Amino acid sequence: MSEPRTPLIAGNWKMNFDHLQAIAFVQKLAWTLKDAHHDYDDVEVAVFPPFTDIRSVQTLIQADKLELKFGGQDVSTHVSGAYTGEVSAHFLKQLDCSYAIVGHSERRYRHVESDETIAAKAKAARDAGLVPLICVGETAKDLERHEPSAVPVNQLRGALIDFKPGDDFVVAYEPIWAIGAGEAATTEQAQSVITALRRTIAQVIDEETAQKTRILYGGSVKPDNIVGFMKCPDVDGVLVGGASLDVDTFASIVRYKKHATY
Ligand code: PEP
Repeated sequence: MSEPRTPLIAGNWKMNFDHLQAIAFVQKLAWTLKDAHHDYDDVEVAVFPPFTDIRSVQTLIQADKLELKFGGQDVSTHVSGAYTGEVSAHFLKQLDCSYAIVGHSERRYRHVESDETIAAKAKAARDAGLVPLICVGETAKDLERHEPSAVPVNQLRGALIDFKPGDDFVVAYEPIWAIGAGEAATTEQAQSVITALRRTIAQVIDEETAQKTRILYGGSVKPDNIVGFMKCPDVDGVLVGGASLDVDTFASIVRYKKHATY
């Protein structure tokens, strides 16, 4: 019998909050969750600030001994060198980041990142001691042509090409048509695609890794739909964009167990 997977609630700030706003946000989030007696061992919480905020967030978290985790929103495929504008996974590790997001749809589509690039980023993050948070998801057009899990499963196969049994990574299933749309996927669709993603991990790595890997849902998650997703047996948390920018809203998502009737 495998260990239960600790739910992860992750907030992707995208290009929002400068370093001063980041400090104010993290302070208020930590106070709100402390007041609510949040147990971080029960539900893990991570934020993904812009690169320029990370040092400030690290300093605050360490000074106040906060249990929040944090990570980068992207990472270079390279360790160091002449790569203007890129940030090495080693630099993020030096700042005590736990995670790095790779393959977010805004990188795949707006920055035209291929499956090969995303695989190299996931490997670079893993090799530096970070946990890659690998995003996969289909467009509305993909859904017209294929069944819902086809594109996410292929993307995950591509991203895991260099991964082996025991490697630590997180997957986020984010249907692109649901991101920032206000309309989330149904819980049935999330559960069914995430089950297919877990099966894929078992096929390309092994069953043990599939059972221990956390797979999140992302796309228009809000306090009023989080419970439905968290009731799905294969959904191990959520990746939140817009709703992670308001402390009370994000704290309410983190505290989903308080408004759930299981
Ligand atoms: C995202 O961009 O990863 C995301 C899930 O955004 P939103 O929650 O705003 O849909």
